[in-house]
Amino acid sequence: MEGACLRSGRELSSIALIGAAKTVPAERLREFLHAGLAEVGENYVQEGLAKLAALENEAQTARWHLIGSLQSNKAKQVVGAFSLVHSVDRVSLAQALDRAAGEIGKVQDVLLQVNLGDEASKAGCKPHEVATLAEFCAKLSNVRLCGLMCLPPYDADAERTRPYFRQLRILRDELLQKELLRLETAELSMGMSDDFEVAIEEGATLVRIGTALFGRRRKAET
Ligand SMILES: *Cc1c(COP(=O)(O)O)cnc(C)c1O
Repeated sequence: MEGACLRSGRELSSIALIGAAKTVPAERLREFLHAGLAEVGENYVQEGLAKLAALENEAQTARWHLIGSLQSNKAKQVVGAFSLVHSVDRVSLAQALDRAAGEIGKVQDVLLQVNLGDEASKAGCKPHEVATLAEFCAKLSNVRLCGLMCLPPYDADAERTRPYFRQLRILRDELLQKELLRLETAELSMGMSDDFEVAIEEGATLVRIGTALFGRRRKAET
């Protein structure tokens, strides 16, 4: 991360490292929290809640992110537990989160997930839907839009992923220009183990790292 910051003239402190902890047991995650991991990302609501319960007070030393796709009927469970939801990609989900957050008197921070590669297998709104969704979020009182997230098509050559990261940054900048985002919270959640350096060079503020931090997951669980 430091190297990528040096190459791109960025401050390391402007980027948060999220440990993408799917399949990592609570006890192992505890060691990482002790070592100073300050941000935890979970893909599945149930798995995240189980770890939060198992880690009790220690869990509160970190900020918890929901980085996997989310069904609207789980919104209630999510708002109490996760600081930032990275995967809002439709009006109905934004509405469900708004309602659930309102019920507990919270404002839920969210990112819009964008499907840049037009991949049928992946969640995310289409790039041309971003502005409309952002406008919708702006009308909700219990949801605060904080930026964009992407999970681009995988390529072993990270350079080939660079155009997607750049595209997400451009979309983010368009939202800034339209004042649908504020500069203080204009996050770009992009970059994983194999491409986080390129993502940082392109402006990532949140990188989601699994394998490079926790080791390889079992094949069936990737
Ligand atoms: C698993 C996962 C990651 C981390 O992937 P690695 O390649 O293991 O670093 C990041 N983001 C999301 C949404 C994931 O599901």
